Amino acid sequence: AFDLLVVGGGPAGASAAIYGARKGIRTGIVADRFGGQVMDTMAIENFISVKGTQGPKLVASLEEHVRDYDVDIMDNQKAKKLQVVEQPGGDITIELENGAMLTTKALLLATGARWREMNVPGEQEYRGKGVAYCPHCDGPLFKGKAVAVIGGGNSGIEAAIDLAGIVSRVTVLEFDTKLRADEVLQQKARSMGNIDIILNARTTEVTGDGQKVSGLSYTCRSSGQAKQLNVEGIFVQIGLVPNSQFLPEALALNNRGEIITGSGGQTNLPGVYAAGDVTDSAYKQIIIAMGSGATAALGAFDYLMRAPQQ
Ligand code: FAD
Repeated sequence: AFDLLVVGGGPAGASAAIYGARKGIRTGIVADRFGGQVMDTMAIENFISVKGTQGPKLVASLEEHVRDYDVDIMDNQKAKKLQVVEQPGGDITIELENGAMLTTKALLLATGARWREMNVPGEQEYRGKGVAYCPHCDGPLFKGKAVAVIGGGNSGIEAAIDLAGIVSRVTVLEFDTKLRADEVLQQKARSMGNIDIILNARTTEVTGDGQKVSGLSYTCRSSGQAKQLNVEGIFVQIGLVPNSQFLPEALALNNRGEIITGSGGQTNLPGVYAAGDVTDSAYKQIIIAMGSGATAALGAFDYLMRAPQQ
């Protein structure tokens, strides 16, 4: 049994585990994929004190730092179900997808977020065959080809600018009547010669020849006209969804499915803490996730000191 079990091995979970282990308590991490979203990130220039690095490199240092402590790392393991307690001090049970059951006095949820999908026909069929979510990872596969970016928020426009340097032409499709990206990004995108922007466009289908993507269909929301765009790649950039689906109903989430946390990382359930992108924190960044992981681990330690012995 653990004193502190962290579910999630991204920056929030790694930071929480180090803070937990440094208190001398039995600490473990269960992670579906150690590193989380950072593994999908190429250039990182805002991790303060490190001028520039790459995601996988930062993940390697994270792992090295965690392994420097007595932390039980269970990588490639997914938590499936939680059994929480009503009174402080009881054992919380976590069931993994492989059937294993783990118990802990305090639980720290740091399961992060994942790409939001379009949910249109063809998206799943052509995933990895032209439909992509990570421009930093998959952009180079489309060198010299025409691609579409779905979504005109910051991530969509950043993706378009990034891809424009690699591919022949980028078409951004935005559902709304205007782009939501920061003005500076919009200006940059408009200044590039090979980015087209289509507003008011509802993507309806990914089309292909059975092997790979050949285009997409969309409806112009103002005229109602159905249109077709020929592209070989489609980058979906319509936001992130918190990984909170497996959590019990008793745990309070906001209307976006994010775990509601207090200033010490506590949730509404005794002994359950949360940190990082899966929570209702205002901004989602590596440094913020690490800070909240540290906060929640200290909060959980505080709870353990006060919880009645059972
Ligand atoms: P995540 O990194 O999402 O990690 C979640 C962890 O939980 C993973 O280990 C995952 O496998 C695990 N998990 C999920 N569900 C389960 C389950 N049921 N059981 C077990 N484990 C589970 N931030 C910056 O500060 N600078 C940047 O330059 C930057 N660039 C980015 C670029 C991209 C392409 C993306 C996607 C994000 C970027 N971010 C950047 C944001 C940053 O990566 C996130 O804010 C940060 O990774 C959040 O950390 P986290 O630990 O909360 O979650």
